[in-house]
Amino acid sequence: MALIDPIFLKARLADAAGRFDVDALDVCDSTSSEAMRRADHGAPSGSVIVADRQTAGRGRRGREWLSEPEASLTFSLIWRFPGSASRLSGLSLAVGLALARALEGMGARGVGLKWPNDVLLETSEGFAKLAGILIELSSDRRGTLAIIGVGLNLLPPAVVLPQPAAGLSQALGQAPDRHEVLAALLGQLVTILDGFTVNGFLGQKSEWLRYHAWQGRTVQVLGDGDRPVVGSCRGVDDDGSLLIETVDGIERVLSGDVSLRCV
Ligand code: ATP
Repeated sequence: MALIDPIFLKARLADAAGRFDVDALDVCDSTSSEAMRRADHGAPSGSVIVADRQTAGRGRRGREWLSEPEASLTFSLIWRFPGSASRLSGLSLAVGLALARALEGMGARGVGLKWPNDVLLETSEGFAKLAGILIELSSDRRGTLAIIGVGLNLLPPAVVLPQPAAGLSQALGQAPDRHEVLAALLGQLVTILDGFTVNGFLGQKSEWLRYHAWQGRTVQVLGDGDRPVVGSCRGVDDDGSLLIETVDGIERVLSGDVSLRCV
């Protein structure tokens, strides 16, 4: 039996329960791949796939997301938006904000956001990655389908990763209850996604900036083959693009398919 019990979860979702249809699996390749297949077969907005184990967990640009059943929470949410994908700029930031709000609501301190898709935790050794977000979009004449994938470390990963990683247990002082975490995340996601549908990222920008971990820090933006942009991180624009102050002035970085590093 999977570690998440949908009936138990439903009770914790309270008012938001009617907005979600949760399926808990022992194992799948990737919750986002499974959600995509189900969406192709007509699964409605609000469908959630949560899996204890992923055999091919994915990050952006073909990168791997590593997770262990007891130590992680990995799920994907199907959400349908009206209009084209161009109206959804800033969506990965909005999802990050929902996660940050939910974790803080559970008592976690030191939660930060890194553009465009990471949730960080401030530790004694600096910021470390607590959760990753993967958003995949496809549009047709009815609107845009978003598959929103979330991988959250409940405990610090046992494997050594290229960049520092953290677990929610470090922020809470104990291993969190996964039903409570998932209910808190889904509860904030529904609020944030409803707000985003009406006002886009603009209505959430100032709150996102309060969590921005690297505001004012010197950063480097690494893209595929492009020359790196180096400068001082000046936050984000109304559409969620990153603002970097370089020697030539402010540069806006639109695409999320780049990596941001502190230098
Ligand atoms: P970048 O840091 O270059 O911007 P990213 O944040 O977009 O990349 P993602 O695609 O979201 O990265 O996640 C994949 C990356 O996250 C992997 O390359 C790996 O370094 C790291 N990673 C994989 N599993 C975990 C985990 N459980 N906890 C923290 N980091 C992880």
